[in-house]
Parts: sequence; C-alpha cells; structure tokens
Amino acid sequence: MPEYILEALFTPKAVAVVGASASPGKVGHSVVSNLVEAGYQGEIFPVNPKGGEVLGIPVVQSIADLPSPLDLAVICIPPRIVLDAVRQLAERGVRAVIVITAGFKETGREGYYLEQELTSIARTHGIALLGPNCLGLNNTACGMNATFAAGQPQSGNIAFFSQSGALCTAILDWALGENIGFSKFISLGNKAVLDESDMLEYLHDDAKTSVILGYMESVDDGARFMQVARKVSAEKPVIVIKSGTTAAGAKAASSHTGAMAGSDQAYSAAFGQAGIMRAPDVATLFNLAQAFSMQPLPKGPNLAIITNSGGPGIMAADVCEKSNLLMSPLSASTVEALGEFLPPFASLYNPVDIIGDADAARYRQTLEAVTRDDLVHAILVLLTPTASAQITETAKAIAEVAAKTEKPVFACFMGQQRIRPGREILLSAGVPCYGFPEPAISSLEAMYRHHIWKNRPEAVSVSRMRDRARAEAVLAKARRSGCVEIVEFQAQELLKAYGLPLPRTELARTSDEAVAAAESMGYPVVVKIASPQISHKSDVNGVRVGLKDAGAVRAAFMDVTSRAQRLRKDAFISGCLVQEMAPGGAKEVIVGFKRDPQFGALLMFGLGGIYVEVLRDIAFRLAPLTVGDAHAMIRDIRSYPLLRGVRGEPPVNFKAIEDILLTMSQLAVDFPDIYEAEFNPVLVDHDGAIVADVRVTLCTYDEGS
Ligand code: ADP
Ligand code: MG
Repeated sequence: MPEYILEALFTPKAVAVVGASASPGKVGHSVVSNLVEAGYQGEIFPVNPKGGEVLGIPVVQSIADLPSPLDLAVICIPPRIVLDAVRQLAERGVRAVIVITAGFKETGREGYYLEQELTSIARTHGIALLGPNCLGLNNTACGMNATFAAGQPQSGNIAFFSQSGALCTAILDWALGENIGFSKFISLGNKAVLDESDMLEYLHDDAKTSVILGYMESVDDGARFMQVARKVSAEKPVIVIKSGTTAAGAKAASSHTGAMAGSDQAYSAAFGQAGIMRAPDVATLFNLAQAFSMQPLPKGPNLAIITNSGGPGIMAADVCEKSNLLMSPLSASTVEALGEFLPPFASLYNPVDIIGDADAARYRQTLEAVTRDDLVHAILVLLTPTASAQITETAKAIAEVAAKTEKPVFACFMGQQRIRPGREILLSAGVPCYGFPEPAISSLEAMYRHHIWKNRPEAVSVSRMRDRARAEAVLAKARRSGCVEIVEFQAQELLKAYGLPLPRTELARTSDEAVAAAESMGYPVVVKIASPQISHKSDVNGVRVGLKDAGAVRAAFMDVTSRAQRLRKDAFISGCLVQEMAPGGAKEVIVGFKRDPQFGALLMFGLGGIYVEVLRDIAFRLAPLTVGDAHAMIRDIRSYPLLRGVRGEPPVNFKAIEDILLTMSQLAVDFPDIYEAEFNPVLVDHDGAIVADVRVTLCTYDEGS
C-alpha cells in the first residue's frame, strides 16, 4: 500500500462522515462530535439525505455533492448500503475510507461475501480501507478523532492498534486514568484491506510514535508480518497481546512435534524472531508501555535499588536475582560518597537503604550519587509511605534527577492513597511508577532484553551441503505408493542425502540376514521392526536394544516380526532394521518441525524420550534457522544444564546438535511438501550425535501446503 494513501487516512485535509446524525448517542453523531471536540482543523462534511445541520455544520445531502478528490470518508450506515456508498465515494476520488459499520464477515456467510465485495471495490480503486466493524481511528497529532469512542485521549508517544474494538474502549479509559497519551489509536476491525502489517509500516516512519502497542487475534500473511515487524522493532519497541490461542488441531497429530507445535508456539516464535515483545495480559501491556514510552533502554544488566525500608528493598533484590538483571555492585567511590551523608544505620551497598526517616533531599543526594556510578545501568527507587516520607517532594526530586541522566530510572511507590500525588508527579514527568517491585523490575528486564536484541550480532545463515535430487526421489516414491508417512527404514536414504549422522543401519528380510548384518557391524546392535504401516515401533514392542550375540539377534528378529504381525494384521512386514547401538550414556534429544499455516516451518528442540509431552521442555523457532537461532534453541530449554553435564559428566557435543537443527531447517525449506518431520531420538554424547529414529509426514490436500 503506497504511503500517500495512508497519509490520507491519518492526516486527511477533509473528512466526510457518511451517515452523520444530529441525534446524540448515534454513532454518526459521535464521530462528528469527536472530530469537533478534538479540534480537527480540516473540513468536516456530514452526509445525510435528510439534510439539516450536525453540531452547526451544514449537512451534505448526497455523496455526489461532496468535493472531489476527497481524503477520507467515515462510514456509519447500515451494512446493505455500505457497498453503494463506497462505490460512489470511489467515483468522487476518495483516497481513504473507514467503515465503522458492523455486519460483515463476523456475522456469517452473507456478511462474508459482502465483505469480499467491499475488499474488491477498495482494491480496484486503490482506496485505503480500514475496517469494517471497527471503532475508527484517532490521530491525536492533528485532532483527527474519527472514532465513536467516548472521551478524548491525551496526545503522547504511544501508538495502539487493535483487532478488537471493545478492547480499544477499555484501553482508552485506562489511559485517561493513568495520564498516558497516544499518538495514534487504530481499530482494525475485520481487516478487509488494511491490517497490522500496514499499520506497523506506517508507524515505523511516524515521528510522533516511539512505542507501538497492539492487540492481535490473527495474522493473515505471516511472511509479510515477519518482514515488516523485524524492520520496525529494530527502531521502535513493539509490544503485542496475542489472544485466541487454542490447542485445537494438535489432537490428531502423529508425532511429538505435531502434538506440541501449535499455532500459539508459532506466534511466540514469530514474535521472538521479529523482536516483538509479547505481553501475556493487559496489565503487563500497560506496565511495559509505561516503561518503554518513558525511559531509555538500559545499556547493561546492573540494577541499583534505593529504598527507605529494609523489607521491600530485600523483596526487590529477590525479584532482581530471579530475573535476567543483576544486583549492581557499587564502586568504592560511590560507597564512600554515600557514607559521607547517609546516617549511620543506612546500608551503603545495593540495595541502598536510606532508612525510614529519609526525606526528599536524602533521596535526591543518594539517587545522584548512584546514577553517577559507571557500574550501574538502571536504578529503581522504592518508597514506602512512612510518617516522615515527603512523598511529593521526593517524586519531584526523582523526576529531576531522572531527567538529567541517560540511564533508566524507575520508581516504585508502595501503597495507594497517600502515595497517589507522588505517583502523578512521576508519571507526568515521564518516570514510570509502579505499586510493587515485580512489575517495575520485569519491565526493566524486558527493556534490557530489547537492548540486547537491538544490538544482536548479524545473523549468520548457512546453506547445507545436500543432494536434493536423491531426497526428492524418496519423497516421490512415497507419493507414488500413496503413503503419507515415511517411516525410519524408508527414510534412511533421505537422511543420507542430507549428510545427517546415522548409525550403521541395514534392512534384513530374514533372521539370517539380520545375523549377517549384525556380525558385519559388530555387537551390540539394535533390532527394529520395519513396516511402512508401523510408525511407532515401540507400540508393538518392535524395538530391541543391546543385543550382544547372534542368538539374541535371531531371537529378536523372530519375536519382533511375529508379534508385529499379530498385533497389526493390516501391516506389511518388510523385515527388521539392524542398527548399530549408540554408545552407553548418550542422551536422547528430539529435533522436529511442523508446518504452520501462517508462518511456515516451525522447528522444535527438546529432551527426547517418552516424557517429552509431559515435561514440555522444548524450544521453538521458525525456519530458516540462523546459526544463532540453533545455538539459542538448545540453551533455551530448562534442561540445558543436563546437556552440559552433571556430576562430572562431560558436556554433550552441542555443535553436533546445532548441525542437525540447521539441517532439519534446510530440509523444511527445501521441501514444502513435507508437513512434519521428527528425529526422535537424536542420541548425543561428548563425541557427537546420531539420528536414531526418524518419521516424515507429507502434506495431504486438506492440510494445504
Ligand atoms: P519408536 O518408533 O518407538 O520411536 P525408536 O527407533 O525411536 O522407535 O526406538 C525406541 C527407543 O529405543 C529410542 O527412543 C531409544 O531409546 C532406543 N534406541 C533406538 N535406536 C537406538 C540406537 N541405535 N542406539 C541406542 N538406542 C536406541
Ligand atoms: Mg522414536
């Protein structure tokens, strides 16, 4: 969408309100009165066949009488006449349209077709269309409040876009109560034409916006969203609530990866990889909005805490210890400086306890000294309303010192009634003030993480050596035979084509062949059932490990094949795989991917074995993986210390796992035809890793591809 069109939407020179009404309470009245009240300086044209006046502005009786060209029309008329109005507006050369009217896609089949028609008219005429079914749009920079929301938000540096109109009204009300102002306020509605990616693109270049908030339920074009989001979040923090997360669709999955890689994981991975922060709830969204919109990012993890009471100071230090931040050391000169003016019982070390009788001057002096310390990257000032606390003066002192430093300064005034005036002073001076240490510290932590993200090393991509044609042949063969699943014994070729490390494996059709294979690879070996219909071999007790001699191999072969035939009458038994046994002590990990409809291949890494789904200790990233992604995935899981080795164990070979992850990513990118693939287990020890089992599922038609 070219930008001049969005200019017509955000900064129109004139606005027509189609369906304007003289009766207060009607949507068509609220839009006009909001424009007037917000002080919109452009021309307003209320349109209504009844004529007359709305708030003293003469009504235009027909769209045909509007000036042409026209920047923006806001539509609040019944759904069945919306299409005609938009067609007429298109003829008048209107550049942007906001359709507030509901009754489209959200109402069912008929509305769905109506909306498709609306989209097509807008696209044909290059109209930037917002909605339908939305609250409207407010650009506080020019008083362009084209919404029907109650109340005028203050102007500020936060932009907000939302897929839910109702949430918009709640956020507006919250903002009024918190002294928070907005640069832009956008209700996306059904996203018939313009969506969150268009808004991000516009807000990226909007000088009035320094923080972007969003509420999202879905993304339609995942690839574009990722690309735009990555660009924008390199410049401005983007904080999003994503709802509508369900586990539906995961039930029928045939693998561990399938069962765990749901759309919520894909969204989280997408946000993470694009640098978007995901707020779990509205409270966190607000906390982060305050932090990011008011203070600079910390340049390091060291947090200093100043407090007038011991307990809350220790609580805050505890929260800090559990976060990615560190309790900052203080340099000797700072400690010395503090010692000169703080009373004898004060603590000169972090948390700096300036004790219960601290007045505003003591707060100021301490904050100045601590802020000057080069070891300190961020400061949190705690205040409990003791009898001698000078709440408003302290707030002013903090605000003044904060204004003079490049480091983020946060306040935590604990309480409600008595601290309120102090809190208001801080907020209007641009110092975030929280009621408890937790939100203050977790917001700072998010800012630090964002700082790291912005300064991350250049991504390194790799292209794996591979024989695509050889792999392609395996997939084609499966397709020809009508198979959707490719099981371990069939997938060996595919893995070899991608140079993956495999245990020596041979397919034996008879027990004699099995013994011969075992003799040639050396004991111990593993025997596994080989049948195209049996993908979970252990389910039929079809895997025998640690076989030490010919007798054991022969017995295992007979037992495994006859049992499989008995349990799975439908299955064609090809024989058994005889496989080299991984060295004792190797750890089982799982590497897999599943194709997400919005974002493409979602890769998964975790500890393998049968408890994967119970422990859910897994990391997700979208393909293609960079070297950094592969590195980070392994370190993201809680059990990472297990892989590093406990009680004198040597660490596993991380490089070998990273290689397998990157190869899996390559496979996912090379073959969109693969819906799901899983190596479970990959057996890894200090020396290296081997892929000891694999399962590949091809796309079927109803899954799309
Ligand atoms: P399934 O189809 O049941 O997943 P696997 O091939 O994964 O069958 O084997 C089941 C388990 O047997 C693995 O999780 C692993 O613990 C063990 N196993 C399989 N192959 C080997 C091997 N080559 N070396 C050591 N252990 C193995
Ligand atoms: Mg397995």
